[in-house]
This record gives sequence, structure tokens and C-alpha cells, in this order.
Amino acid sequence: MILNDEPARTIGILKKYDLMPRKKFGQNFLIDGHVIEKIIDAAGVTEDDCVLEIGPGIGTMTRHLCARARKVIAIEIDRDLVKILKEDILKDCTNLTIINEDVLKVDIEELVRTENGGRPVKVVANLPYYITTPIIMGLFEKHVPMESMTLMVQKEVAQRMCAKPGTKDYGALTVAVSYYSECYLAANVPMNCFMPRPDVMSAVVRLTVLPQAPVTVKDRGKMFAIVKAAFGQRRKTLQNALMNAQGISCTKEDVANALESMGLSPLARGEVLSLEQFARISELL
Ligand code: SAM
Repeated sequence: MILNDEPARTIGILKKYDLMPRKKFGQNFLIDGHVIEKIIDAAGVTEDDCVLEIGPGIGTMTRHLCARARKVIAIEIDRDLVKILKEDILKDCTNLTIINEDVLKVDIEELVRTENGGRPVKVVANLPYYITTPIIMGLFEKHVPMESMTLMVQKEVAQRMCAKPGTKDYGALTVAVSYYSECYLAANVPMNCFMPRPDVMSAVVRLTVLPQAPVTVKDRGKMFAIVKAAFGQRRKTLQNALMNAQGISCTKEDVANALESMGLSPLARGEVLSLEQFARISELL
């Protein structure tokens, strides 16, 4: 595969079909072949793998994926792009299934069952940034069989996913991601690797799905309600943040006692608590 012809190829496709990248679908096409290979390397795609790509766009990364994986399933919302992919650009890719749908409305568990016998897939995507979090959390929460997600996301979101407790990037997304996976920041990607250029820096992260949650809680919903309340008002102490929070009924004293029993200050803010500590306090309250 020639790696440095992607910018010319992208311009050629846009011209040939008179396409204007659609902002409303977050269409910023990758034009750097080396970055595409880096993403696929970070995902560890082999010829045994079935890959689920979200948003193939004009098929630039899809071609590379089809060359390296056993099978590729691609979900694209844009009907016009799907037509071009099927009829022209990717018509020779015999190991590819393209689905014209909104990824948020697809029953992906069912799709993986029919397309890959229910065996885990590797998700690889240059995500549409306007729905990054719903896509990631949707895949986790619906327990889609998958080994990992290797994703191009906004750099700031990548930093939030991989952050450590007590840092400015640490938040509800970090805790949620660490409940389901191990996060690895594989590369930073500058704006000039896309056409059109986005306004933000990007980064590639790999989320390796954990075989089981690293903490045990009786009520996962309650733990995440505490996490949401803690970061909804992150400058407040946890005692204050949890007062009147939805789904939690406790007094300030309850929170103070729980924090003290965990060896933390009763005035601690939620932002210093690790996933394990959120699990613990959820059990104590
Ligand atoms: N993979 C291509 C690349 O790297 O050049 C395109 C990436 S572009 C950032 C995001 C892609 O996701 C676009 O093709 C867009 O049409 C598609 N997309 C946006 N919203 C979607 C949704 N809800 N469901 C499926 N695809 C979507």
C-alpha cells in the first residue's frame, strides 16, 4: 500500500463525486497514510481479526484495514458516501460489509453475533468528534463483545480518558473508561493530517477491554451517580456535591464518616478519588 498518495487520492475522490465534507457528520478525512498505519498497528490488527470501523468516510482507512484484517464491518451514516464506497471505492474489498446506519441506533451486539459468530471484534475508528462519548460509552455499557477500541479522538478527550486522579483532566469520563478498560495514549496527531483541517488537535487512544471490572460494587448505577455528582460540581467537597444529587440519599455526616473510614479527609473533593475509592464509598453510603 502506497502511504503518501492519500492527500491526492482524497482530493481526487472529492472532485470526482463533487463531494463537500459534511460538518454535521464530523467529516474530517484522514490523509496521512503513516498515521493510518500507526492506528492499525496500535490496534494490533492481524489477519485473524474481525474489525468494526465506525464512520469509514471515503474509505481511506477501510482499505488499509481490509488489507490487514480477516474481515471488516463498517458503519457509515452518510448515504451518499455509502453508495460511492459500495459501487466504486471499495467494491474490490471482498472481506468488507458496509452498513448504512447511525451507529448509535445499531444493535451492535446482534451485528457481532451475525457477522463474527459473537466472537470479540476490534473496534478501530477515526470517530466523528460530536458523538465521541456516546459511542464509546454505548459500546461499553451494552457489553458488545470486543477486545479493544483504538480511536482517533480530540486530544483533550484522549487526555481525559487516560488521566490520573487529582489532575485537571481527571473526571467522570476517566472513571467510566477505567471501569471497563485500560487506556493507552498511542500518538498525538496534528491538524494537517486531515482534510478539511479540524480546529482541534487529535490523538489516538487504545482502550483494551478488561475481562472483568476491576472493582466490585453491588449497585453500579449508584456508583456512577456518585461519580457524576462529584464531577458535576468538582470544586465542591464531596459532602456538598452529594447533597441533593439524583439517585443518592445520604447526609453530610454519612459522607464525612465514609471518607474518614477510608483514610481520606472529610473535606475531600471527588476529583481526588480513584475508581476503587468511588466503589468503596458507594458501598459505604
Ligand atoms: N474514517 C474516515 C477517515 O478516517 O478519513 C472518516 C472519519 S470522519 C472523522 C467521521 C466519519 O463518521 C464520517 O464519515 C461521518 O460521516 C461518519 N459518521 C458521523 N456520524 C455518524 C454516525 N452517527 N453513525 C455512523 N457514522 C457516522
